[in-house]
Amino acid sequence: MDAISYERAGDVASALRAAQQPGAVFIGGGTNLLDLMKGGVARPVRLIDITHIDGLDAITALPGGGIRIGALVRNSDAANHALVRESYPLLSQALLAGASAQLRNMATVGGNLLQRTRCGYFYDTAFTQCNKRLPGSGCAALGGHNRMHAILGASPQCIAVNPSDMSVALAALDATVRVSGANGERTIAFADFHRLPADRPDVDTTLLPGELITAVDLPPPLFSAHSHYLKVRDRASYAFALVSVAAALQMDGARVETARIALGGVAPKPWRASAAERMLAGQPLTQSTLRNAAAAALDGARPLRDNGFKVQLAQRAIVRAINEAAGYAGGVA
Ligand code: SF4
Repeated sequence: MDAISYERAGDVASALRAAQQPGAVFIGGGTNLLDLMKGGVARPVRLIDITHIDGLDAITALPGGGIRIGALVRNSDAANHALVRESYPLLSQALLAGASAQLRNMATVGGNLLQRTRCGYFYDTAFTQCNKRLPGSGCAALGGHNRMHAILGASPQCIAVNPSDMSVALAALDATVRVSGANGERTIAFADFHRLPADRPDVDTTLLPGELITAVDLPPPLFSAHSHYLKVRDRASYAFALVSVAAALQMDGARVETARIALGGVAPKPWRASAAERMLAGQPLTQSTLRNAAAAALDGARPLRDNGFKVQLAQRAIVRAINEAAGYAGGVA
């Protein structure tokens, strides 16, 4: 058994100092990290408990609109907070679509951003080929079971998908991640927070070593009247997405003013469908416009042996999510 030391940080500064020690990792809710440790996938030497740091567990309104969600806010508290439910229902829906009630009660917003892929080959250390777990070892999923894997954004090094529902909504809402590190505070645009695998699939985010997520900021709400999170999965609860869609619209009657579309379950990071957004902007929401936009969202998809179904599934999910967001649950003209 590996020896692990434990330290409880009282404030951000002491957490950052403790994180400079070799093998140190932060622990919040621990819902992913403890799984990784039990399976021998993560082997931290020192756990820095950040759950007692004051000021990181609140949701506050920002001057000029928008809200700040502290990194230690529990997923269930974020989903049920009045500011989130009323102004960012897309985020509330996405959070409630994730995991189980018990896990949502423990998991933190900061930890949700950092949860690792659920690729079975990554979690099972009996498999010796996994570039994410053992850089340079290969990828067992490429020639193995890859029904749950990526059709967009993957690389020959890794085809795993990001498992977070919350992050798909945050991508659509143009969130900003606030972090603190040895060089002070900085912000990271959500689109830049998670990274594609390229030739470093072991690195999931653009966080620098020792940096701590302190909050997620959301801009003023533009989409509260017209948004929808749709998650398609193998069973109704406690399952990761085959495909998910975060759709947010600004409407002027039947015309789309602006659209935000992000996809989950299809790529190594929350995937913004920018081409589809551009095709919808300024257009009447007709069936043909919507189908063309959904097709554009999957341009460049590269299905694997077992997951070709995801292309059409994602297109259909986009159509349905936008219909729901627009209030046309029965379908558009
Ligand atoms: Fe590992 Fe990525 Fe391949 Fe899965 S897809 S086995 S996480 S390298």
